[in-house]
Amino acid sequence: MELSSLTIEQASAGLRKKEFSSVEITEAVLKRIDSVDTNVHAYLSVLEEEAHIAAKMADEVLGRENTAGSLLGIPVALKDNMTMAGTITTSASRMLEHYRAPYDGTVVSCLKKEGAVIIGKTNLDEFAMGSSTENSAFGPTSNPWDLSCVPGGSSGGSAAAVSADECIYALGSDTGGSIRQPASLCGVVGLKPTYGQVSRYGLIAMASSLDQIGPITKTVKDAAIVFDAIKGADLRDASSARADRKSTLGTITGDIKGLKIGVPREYFIEGMDLEIEKATREAIEVYRSLGAEIIDVSLPHTEYALAVYYIIMPAEVSANLARFDGVRYGFRDEDAQDLTTLYQESRRKGFGAEVRRRIILGTYTLSSGYADAYYKKAQKVRARIEKDFAHAFTQVDCLLTPTTPALAFRKGEKSADPLTMYLEDIFTVSANIAGVPGISLPCGFASREGNNLPMGLQLMGKHWDEATILNAAFSYEQATLWHVRRPDILS
Ligand code: GLN
Repeated sequence: MELSSLTIEQASAGLRKKEFSSVEITEAVLKRIDSVDTNVHAYLSVLEEEAHIAAKMADEVLGRENTAGSLLGIPVALKDNMTMAGTITTSASRMLEHYRAPYDGTVVSCLKKEGAVIIGKTNLDEFAMGSSTENSAFGPTSNPWDLSCVPGGSSGGSAAAVSADECIYALGSDTGGSIRQPASLCGVVGLKPTYGQVSRYGLIAMASSLDQIGPITKTVKDAAIVFDAIKGADLRDASSARADRKSTLGTITGDIKGLKIGVPREYFIEGMDLEIEKATREAIEVYRSLGAEIIDVSLPHTEYALAVYYIIMPAEVSANLARFDGVRYGFRDEDAQDLTTLYQESRRKGFGAEVRRRIILGTYTLSSGYADAYYKKAQKVRARIEKDFAHAFTQVDCLLTPTTPALAFRKGEKSADPLTMYLEDIFTVSANIAGVPGISLPCGFASREGNNLPMGLQLMGKHWDEATILNAAFSYEQATLWHVRRPDILS
């Protein structure tokens, strides 16, 4: 077995038994990037030198003690909207093409404290806006299962890198599905924690009432390990709410006898891929056989979720991205002769089409006369959606749905039509709107033109209760073999 294909658990065990060193895993991962990333294009930058230094330090620690954390010496990839001191952080935008971050974001500090080896920065849709990674200013990422397809987005680079063994695990960010949807399309595990679990200090903001950072991994237990390492209150992010450092990993037993799983009827909609529907229904049966109680529930305002998201998110985008004015940050149009032209041209040339579209939409829905009709109304419906979840969670412990309505699609297939692209988010945005945690895990494969395309199952839980969905996910993972399959298109 190649070292690059190990899980965190396997790598950590091997490092402790001195079967290999951190330098060796790091080199194996760098070699893998070298051989496949021209095809996949998961990375925007590879931090070879920094990774080597971190790996050597990890080996020294491993030589001295056996008590070190479980991420010590293990290569991780970061979505390129997270700052790491001294490295370029582009958010896949021309606007930040040359922006060198002067500080570590909190998640990066957490990883460094654990002795992780940060191997590179991954591709994304510009400023995390998109579902295919095609909105990157630096070219799209390919799906390792079928290179003609998208990996999903916006954390498409992170999901593809994990799936193609170009890292052991990665971090992504999720505002409306950007961890779970690409994880689903790439056949890996993605966890969006409860809003407020993980500090966003150092995350380039997209929509502040929705953004959350989380892990993308090869297994459920790996996701718990990373989540445990990055969660916790942080004075530098006022929305990070809990100081709880209890191990989630320690609560995973795989025993789900008597667990009440709700299946919301609104998540089986006309037009969704039939193979995805079938795989989800089969997963429900697996859960039943594992001893879970399956309960039919309703989240009646689900049909408004996408509309609410596409009003609130652009409003927050327009506010957050106001800082990119050509003066304080990033790209500046040097030809501008006066201040207004400088603002206009820097923003017109620095931002891509999708980002500009959202800024315009958001500015419109916040403008006087329209704020009541759109933004305030959306906030009211948001409260209803939150209530739907609260009510469902009086009946059940977690909810089970498909992660996406469609399989990985071909590059170019949806990029000309933003509305079709937005429909990709139909099953994922509600968790962000309500702030609850959600996880996507592999639940089968559909074959298309000789290639296998992964499908994902989503579990959503109560606020602060990642433990239940991780345990339920682990139980399913133990009972199935989907997670051990890796794309062979690259070998
Ligand atoms: N696909 C969604 C969008 O385009 C989600 C993005 C995200 O979660 N960052 O907004």
